[in-house]
Amino acid sequence: MSPSATTTAGFVPSDRLKVLVIGGGLCGLGTAISTSLAGHSVTVFEAAPELHEIGAGLQITPNANRLLQGWGLWESLAPVAAAPQQLSIRRFDGRLLAQRLDYDEETKRKYGVPTWCLHRVDLQQALLRRATELGVEIRFGQRVHDIDFERNQITLENGETAVGDVVIAADGLWSAVRNKFLGIETPPKPTGDLAYRVTINVDEIDDPELLEVIQKPGNNIWIGPSRHAVGYNVRNGKLFNMVLLVPDDLPEGVRKQPGNIAEMRKLFEDWDPILTKLLARVEKVEKWKLMHHPPLERLAIDTGRFFIAGDAAHPMLPYFAQGANSSFEDAAVLGHLLSKASSIKELPIIADIYSRIRRERVSRIHSETFVHRDDFHLPDGPKQVQRDELLYNSFTKDDWTHPKIQPWLWSYDAYKATEEEYNRVITK
Ligand SMILES: Cc1cc2nc3c(=O)[nH]c(=O)nc-3n(C[C@H](O)[C@H](O)[C@H](O)COP(=O)(O)OP(=O)(O)OC[C@H]3O[C@@H](n4cnc5c(N)ncnc54)[C@H](O)[C@@H]3O)c2cc1C
Repeated sequence: MSPSATTTAGFVPSDRLKVLVIGGGLCGLGTAISTSLAGHSVTVFEAAPELHEIGAGLQITPNANRLLQGWGLWESLAPVAAAPQQLSIRRFDGRLLAQRLDYDEETKRKYGVPTWCLHRVDLQQALLRRATELGVEIRFGQRVHDIDFERNQITLENGETAVGDVVIAADGLWSAVRNKFLGIETPPKPTGDLAYRVTINVDEIDDPELLEVIQKPGNNIWIGPSRHAVGYNVRNGKLFNMVLLVPDDLPEGVRKQPGNIAEMRKLFEDWDPILTKLLARVEKVEKWKLMHHPPLERLAIDTGRFFIAGDAAHPMLPYFAQGANSSFEDAAVLGHLLSKASSIKELPIIADIYSRIRRERVSRIHSETFVHRDDFHLPDGPKQVQRDELLYNSFTKDDWTHPKIQPWLWSYDAYKATEEEYNRVITK
């Protein structure tokens, strides 16, 4: 790739900036789409030789789903999405604590768009197709090895270099670029929990009791001392995705490994018989160490020539299902801010706004996930009784599970919030 002629001169000849994105995961592809829609020329460098065909379900909540809609992804995602019709929260023994039977309708009524549960591969493929359609260049098998922040230059493992007007790092949880940006080794930290991830083909189930739970798209949560389980449908309801969250017993340094099914079943043996029956159907399981990193103080270099986004900047516990959703918010904010830039002179103001508004929001989500974990995992006792009452009341009084957090999370419109902040800053 030839270096951009614009960077050393300090001006861009047209209003098209050359944007280099490091990492083609959900955040990198979302960022590529949003910056391309903002009128810029985008290249994504992805280390993997092809799209990762790994992972299972993801809940895409209204705050991100309205972005996917605006980016033109709904047509390809709608046929593979599952919109949960009901939400049920049960005690570990199966006792129903709270339930919403009109969950999808209520979500749409309150937030304008549905929550969609998607298979990660379906979402990645749709993002890749849309980015390609928009003219984004995606270079697979191109690991970024080094970055020169002064020159906005990246160096690939094969020695090739590329210079952009703007470089955006979206290289995920184990981001090497984060270390270079901060000038220290700062790996993610264990959260103390791990996730067993399993899927069950709905077509293969004939037990009426199980079908009652998994046949119609829904969101089912079981909570108990030190662990919880979440199950929802993906792939238009045909696949039931389960995540079982338990104390981490993986050795230090092990990120992920094939799980032992018997060991997983044992951890839930005295739980709701429906759950244990579901686990009896599982044929393969993966065990993932759940990591986090405190949100970075700065998410950009002051010149606005470098930004960091997604899990590279703020990996978090998935207990509000917000990791990818926040990554899409990052992407939208960046895209919208960069739509205001027709020359690199305008980038510093963008760096400041991006850093501030994203840090404020992701810091709160990041810390709330731990509060939520402690709440869900309470040992039996007076606090747990109080929590169960609160849960029951919040549902019956039409306030939802997290009366404060959920409206704050789900009603957020990243484009609107960015526009407001940009106007506030430039008219100051
Ligand atoms: C159990 C579990 C359940 C979850 N559930 C949800 C959910 O329901 N909803 C939700 O919103 N989030 C959820 N998440 C979080 C979500 O998966 C992540 O937040 C999201 O995938 C982050 O996307 P990313 O693009 O930042 O990182 P990644 O998806 O990790 O992508 C980073 C990409 O960068 C590439 N890369 C790395 N280094 C380099 C390099 N040097 N050069 C070039 N490329 C490089 C990698 O190959 C990779 O493709 C969950 C996470 C877990 C563990």
